[in-house]
Amino acid sequence: MDRRGFLKFAGISAGLFVGGVSFGKGSINLPKPSPKSPRVVVIGAGWSGLTVAKYIKKGNPSVDVVLIDKRAHFFSCPVSNLWLVDIVPLEMLVHSYLKAADTYGYHFLQATVIDIDRNKRKVYTDKGVIDYDFLVLAPGIDYDYERWNIKDPEELEIAKTKYPPAFIPGSEHIYLKKKIHNFEGGEFVVTVPPGLDYRCIPGPYERATLIAWFFKKDKVKGKVILVDPHSDPPVKAKGFHYAWEKIVNGYIDYYPNADINYVDVINRKVRTEAYGDIDFTDGNIYPPCKVADIVYKIGGVKKGERWANIDPLKYNLIGDERVFVSGDARNQPFSKSGNTAATEAKYIARRVLASIAGKDIPYKPPMTLCYSAVDENKAVWVRLTYKYEKGQFSFARVRTDENPSQKNFKAYMAWAKAHYKDMLAAD
Ligand SMILES: Cc1cc2nc3c(=O)[nH]c(=O)nc-3n(C[C@H](O)[C@H](O)[C@H](O)COP(=O)(O)OP(=O)(O)OC[C@H]3O[C@@H](n4cnc5c(N)ncnc54)[C@H](O)[C@@H]3O)c2cc1C
Repeated sequence: MDRRGFLKFAGISAGLFVGGVSFGKGSINLPKPSPKSPRVVVIGAGWSGLTVAKYIKKGNPSVDVVLIDKRAHFFSCPVSNLWLVDIVPLEMLVHSYLKAADTYGYHFLQATVIDIDRNKRKVYTDKGVIDYDFLVLAPGIDYDYERWNIKDPEELEIAKTKYPPAFIPGSEHIYLKKKIHNFEGGEFVVTVPPGLDYRCIPGPYERATLIAWFFKKDKVKGKVILVDPHSDPPVKAKGFHYAWEKIVNGYIDYYPNADINYVDVINRKVRTEAYGDIDFTDGNIYPPCKVADIVYKIGGVKKGERWANIDPLKYNLIGDERVFVSGDARNQPFSKSGNTAATEAKYIARRVLASIAGKDIPYKPPMTLCYSAVDENKAVWVRLTYKYEKGQFSFARVRTDENPSQKNFKAYMAWAKAHYKDMLAAD
């Protein structure tokens, strides 16, 4: 639908249950704490958006907060690799947005954001139009298949539907789980994107290790082929190598330094410079990443770049003091992880509240804490803090435990549950 058609569609009035999702078609009229309350609209109810919404409301209950997501339920990417191989149940990952909205006192709207008019301060969704005083964009990532030369529409369709990366929350994971469980033998390829700006640096290594563990447990006549452009896993390498040698040996082949030029999803070949064509029977093709589409659409990405063009310390879009960007959509070189997104979101919530009050606050960097399981009850972790000096970010401190242990696995589960409780008021 073009803008004019959309505006016509949006002219009809709508209603809403506070904390609920009952909208008709048209412009969206939401009750505010008071007629003069400023409204903050948060786009994306992932690890970042949920935390921003909660902490803005907590910091100042008189601010009207509207959290929008296209999905009906929260699905956690962290811990999802364990669900793929039946180590944890689905109930651990899926949570109610309504309970979070109800508990923390903001509105939740299930809608897809189609466009934003930053001059008029309006968000256009498939359910209607909503005004904002301040906007937080927390829409996460998209896949950048072009960088792997997958451009043909038929090939793109196959890549997305037959080999879904499952690094964006939702239905991709369900399909991938079925593929793993139905795999009868052969080579199950897992690809790692290049660079360090893809979502969850250790994620593909954890996934490959757990799929190998699952094949070994079920005595599947096949193995995982892990194709990696890096020379070694960029984090927790010792822990993953331990697992590949001692826990899942014979069920995983590691191909480091494998610069991927192209993935032929029709003939099932990963084309690399170092190893030539690597054939696969089935697999999980994770391409490079870029910011979610809506940020491109509103002119929030510099030409030739892939992440939101924001002030690195204040998080507002360059040239727009009313629009902030949070979570994996950001362009700072922090690890794209849930813990980073959630700790950063608390700072962004305070920054939005300061902007509403016409004040400033000192910068506070986020913190990355990331666990990876290597079998059904052992895990490793890394913890990173950051600093900003002379216009550059660097690590303030790096701590890691790369010895797989049950203690780390218990801490992994406790970490996830604490986040679900904080973000979603989960039991
Ligand atoms: C398999 C896997 C394992 C991981 N493991 C870990 C881990 O162990 N530890 C860790 O810290 N991190 C981990 N991560 C990373 C973590 O999931 C992400 O870094 C985190 O989800 C980023 O949060 P976000 O809010 O930026 O994005 P998301 O959580 O992806 O949320 C973005 C939301 O925006 C919504 N959205 C996008 N566009 C629109 C639109 N136009 N309209 C409406 N809604 C929209 C999406 O539906 C989505 O809900 C893992 C990720 C994966 C995939």
